[in-house]
Amino acid sequence: MDYTVRLIHQKKRIALVAHDNKKQDLLEWAKWNRTLLVEHELYATGTTGKLLEEVLGTSVNKFQSGPLGGDQQIGARIAEDGIDFMIFFWDPLSQQPHDTDVKALLRIAVVWNIPVACNRASADFMISSALMTGEYERLIVDYQPYRERQVESLVGDKMDDLTENPAPDIPDSVTMP
Ligand code: PGA
Repeated sequence: MDYTVRLIHQKKRIALVAHDNKKQDLLEWAKWNRTLLVEHELYATGTTGKLLEEVLGTSVNKFQSGPLGGDQQIGARIAEDGIDFMIFFWDPLSQQPHDTDVKALLRIAVVWNIPVACNRASADFMISSALMTGEYERLIVDYQPYRERQVESLVGDKMDDLTENPAPDIPDSVTMP
């Protein structure tokens, strides 16, 4: 498999997210690790970010609240190489209104090989890693062959029709019978 390399710089762009039952956990963890966290650029879903700002006394880039699209915004940032690292304390015992977004966020973090910690023990190991203090070469699967795959085979000989025949004009107004 081919890979491309993206650098995670010494100053990392860290996303933090906690579901409601996990917010206290995350805030305690963040307070304990304040000295280290404030050296980095912090991002969070709306409510988590607001609470983190109060506890850490530093500014956090806040997205929408998770169920209102915040998880998707973080996922989009990961896809455009704007987040290096994620601490995501999701609640394994409660159904979330945005379960699909949670799954999508975790999936996109794997697609782009972003380090993710989903509980305190993982977060402790991650943040105390020697890799936190320097640059890290993040290997990403080379998705170019996927982008260049033969889409013609997916649409069959309809592709020629679609590209050769212009779309019919849409009338300005349609009179209902
Ligand atoms: P919140 O969102 O920080 O706005 O509560 C977290 C989430 O549920 O994803």
